[in-house]
Amino acid sequence: MLSNADYANSIDQIVEVMREQHKEGSDFAKIYETGKDSLVDGEFHTPYQYTEAQLAAAVEEARRLGTTVGVHAMGEPGTLYAAQAGVVAIDHATQLSDETMRLMKEKHIPAVPTFAIFAYFAEHAGSAAAAARETALLNYKIAEFKKQVAAGIPFAVGSDVGPFPHGTQAVEMELMVRYGMKPLAVLQADLINGAKVLGWEGQIGELKPGYFADVIAVPGNPLEDITAVERVSFVMKGGKVVRQ
Ligand SMILES: [Zn+2]
Repeated sequence: MLSNADYANSIDQIVEVMREQHKEGSDFAKIYETGKDSLVDGEFHTPYQYTEAQLAAAVEEARRLGTTVGVHAMGEPGTLYAAQAGVVAIDHATQLSDETMRLMKEKHIPAVPTFAIFAYFAEHAGSAAAAARETALLNYKIAEFKKQVAAGIPFAVGSDVGPFPHGTQAVEMELMVRYGMKPLAVLQADLINGAKVLGWEGQIGELKPGYFADVIAVPGNPLEDITAVERVSFVMKGGKVVRQ
C-alpha cells in the first residue's frame, strides 16, 4: 500500500476510512483504482482494485458527506467502473474504452491526463531501461489522448505536481496543447471544468458578477501561445491584488 493512502478492502472498510478521514478534515476522497501498470509489446495492462459496486458505495458515502470521489485510474476496466460509479473525475486516464468515453461524455466526467508527471518521469528516469519504459508509456498515453480528444470527452487540468517542483505545473497546459487540444479548450478545461471538479462551480473559474474576483494576467495571448500561462505577471485573489 502507498504511504499516502489508507487501506480499505471492502465497502464497509471504504466507508469507514472515508468517515474517519472526513472527521480528520478531508474534503475530498481519491481512490487508487488501478495499478500496478505495465506496457508489454504496446499493450497496456493495469489491474483494477475495486468493483463498480464498491466505487459506487464510495460515491454515495461522499454524497452523504457533501463531497465527491476522484480516482487514480490508468486504464480498463477500472476506468469503466469509475465512470459507471459516477466519480467526479478520472485522473491519469491513460486508457479509456469507447464505452467509458461514452459514459464520461454523458455524465460530464472529465479526464485529467497529468502529462506533466509522465514527462517528468521520462526525463528524470534513473536508468536507460527506466527511461525507455517511461518514454514508451508517455508515447502510448499521447496516442490515446488524441483519440480521447477526437471523441470529444470532457477534460480538466491537473499535473500531479509534487514529485516535480510546485510552481512549475502550468506546463501541463502546454503539454495538453502540444498533444492535441486547442488552447481555448485547455483554458476552459482548466478554469470551468476545474471549478466543477473542486465543487466550486458558480464561484470560481469565470469572470462573472457574484464570483470571486480571482484574476491573473500574463504577457501575451495564451490563445496564440499557451506557454504565456507559465509567465504570470499579475495576480488578484478575491478582489485583492497579491502580485503586480
Ligand atoms: Zn494518481
